[in-house]
Amino acid sequence: MQEQVSDHLLGSLVDQRYLVRTRLAGGGMSTVYLATDERLDRDVALKVLHPHLANDASFLERLRREARAAASLSHPHVVGVLDQGQDGHIAYLVMEYIKGHTLRDVLQEKGGLSPRLALALIDPVIEGLAAAHSAGLIHRDVKPENVLIADDGRIKVGDFGLARAVTAATSTGSLIGTVAYLAPELVLGEAADARSDIYSAGVMLYEMLTGTQPYSGEVPIQVAYKHVNAEIPAPSAAAPGLVSDLDELVQWCTAKDPEQRPVDGGALLSELRHIRTTLSDEQLDYAPLSARPSLAAAEQAASLDTTVLGSADAAHTEIISSGQHPTSVLPQPAQGISAAAFPTSVLPPAGPLPAGTDRDASSAQLSPREEKRAARQAEKDRARAAATPSRTLREGNVRRRAVIWASVILLLAVLAGTAGWFFGMGPGSPGTIPALKNRPAQEAEQLLRTAGFQSRPQDVFDDEVKAGYTVGTDPAAGVEIRKFLPVTLFVSKGPQLFPLANLDGLSLEQAKDALAGAEMTLGRVSEKYDEQAPAGTILSQAPAKDTPVRHGTAVSLVVSKGPQPLPVPDVRGMDRAAAVKAISDAGLTAKVAAEEIFDKKAPAGTVLRQSPSDGTLNRGGTVTLTLSKGPRLVEVPNFVGKSAKQAERELKKLGFEVELDVFGGILGLVQSQDPVDTMAPEGSTVTLRVV
Ligand code: ADP
Ligand code: MG
Repeated sequence: MQEQVSDHLLGSLVDQRYLVRTRLAGGGMSTVYLATDERLDRDVALKVLHPHLANDASFLERLRREARAAASLSHPHVVGVLDQGQDGHIAYLVMEYIKGHTLRDVLQEKGGLSPRLALALIDPVIEGLAAAHSAGLIHRDVKPENVLIADDGRIKVGDFGLARAVTAATSTGSLIGTVAYLAPELVLGEAADARSDIYSAGVMLYEMLTGTQPYSGEVPIQVAYKHVNAEIPAPSAAAPGLVSDLDELVQWCTAKDPEQRPVDGGALLSELRHIRTTLSDEQLDYAPLSARPSLAAAEQAASLDTTVLGSADAAHTEIISSGQHPTSVLPQPAQGISAAAFPTSVLPPAGPLPAGTDRDASSAQLSPREEKRAARQAEKDRARAAATPSRTLREGNVRRRAVIWASVILLLAVLAGTAGWFFGMGPGSPGTIPALKNRPAQEAEQLLRTAGFQSRPQDVFDDEVKAGYTVGTDPAAGVEIRKFLPVTLFVSKGPQLFPLANLDGLSLEQAKDALAGAEMTLGRVSEKYDEQAPAGTILSQAPAKDTPVRHGTAVSLVVSKGPQPLPVPDVRGMDRAAAVKAISDAGLTAKVAAEEIFDKKAPAGTVLRQSPSDGTLNRGGTVTLTLSKGPRLVEVPNFVGKSAKQAERELKKLGFEVELDVFGGILGLVQSQDPVDTMAPEGSTVTLRVV
């Protein structure tokens, strides 16, 4: 979006004066264009604040400050600011156009630089910074991106967007600058002064000499901590063989205690130039290992000279070919960018030592290295003593040091985890996120606020943490972040509840699948007879369907065993009423057959037969009963006067029992008979009197 809006500017005339031509670079805050100043008919660089920031007073103020800061300086090594204004929504700054590249481009192209080139490039930068410092300004964003290298070799410090007057340089409480180059006092939110620029310049020199940043490849916050807690390693550790004087120079600039650094750009500049004079050609042309691998060496030398710094313009060609620089000072062919490519004006004087540096004459007993060190120390002491920093630079040094050390100690304590979880400094200071799990949300919020963090509560479901209590934070407890970064506080809404599905009628297997699909678990499974539901189907569930439950809830199921088998009672011999009751008591249904059957033994009305007579039936199953009619009635023939034997035979044939009552029995005839000429029940006894 910003891109589109910015692109709309291309071809337009800003403030009826600056014709926007091409886009040179874009950053987080602004876009830099090449433009033509129509009034004076010359190229200018136009820095335009991103439109969405143009209404923000603090950004507008930054732009104005940059304009005023740079405009107050007129120095060959500081990018000149020509104009500043606002055209509708466009807030802009007009600078002299530096056709060329940034130091970042050079480092990207080449990796590490030879000491000769590194010193040649940093010298004008320090000179520019020194000019700013002596004008009472600090830059606060010294880094390769902000060093502009013109195609004709001119080198300028740009981007005074963060610059401040030393007198106004109080703690801002927020992080400014670029973390890779940030002085420890800025990390700690302390006031910056000229020595903070020196620190950044030292880190930049480290990078130029080694091709890498001392704390590269880590997350920004770790880099910031390193600046506070670690010593910048010696460049020679990354570039073995690098002359130790340069190690010392970098370490001097990057001392943790600002008091131990050069007081300002001027002090650093004289030391830098001094060292330059003491280095041999061999030392100056040392090729760092991290220099980008060459293609065909000569080819690269040629192409880099043109692509990075190359210029077809006369001045450049003239200098190269002027013969001022003997071939011997040219770096090895692999060194694409040669120091010789820079006009003499940017090279530090290689001639006699500065006045007062009488190292050659004195201390003849010392080894050359010791001699050099002693001389440099004397130089440093002199530079420090001679420097006349502004009142504000000195003011409060003791207090500031005390605070810095207190901060460092506190910070270390937090890092060591011994200072508990909270650490209150400015919003830009780092703090450890406290452990808040299971604390009531309000209390957690309060604790975060007390620790200096801004919390952003967010409700989340949680199965373990009670509703209204803290689940955790993002970043997590124990993580150290800058306090102005928001901390998300996750507050439990309790477990997420899902309505249970209805499992009735499913088979047990189907129910198990359904539970697994809903991330529930299977609870107790019991079985029950059921007259309707087929065996194996779900009869009921607990909790019941539609109950809101959390994931993982165990659901118990009752599975049908089908209808219950009921034993059939044996009711044979019972009378009808008793039999029917017994059967219905057993859960079954009695059916009495219409037809009754004669039976010699079973009394009429009792159950003679039943079907089934044993085994089981489902509830309500039918048991058929057959009742007895009792014995049949048979006509008893009259046998009086007849042969007793025959009578007995005949009566037995008819189903009667026969009792003989014999009187003499000589005739063998029936004298009388009882009963006689009547109906008698089958099986009853007929008595015959035999004479
Ligand atoms: P920012 O604060 O947005 O980084 P800078 O002033 O550093 O703004 O400019 C960003 C980039 O624009 C620089 O790194 C450089 O590439 C280019 N630039 C800035 N000023 C000029 C200029 N005067 N001439 C040419 N290019 C410039
Ligand atoms: Mg910049």
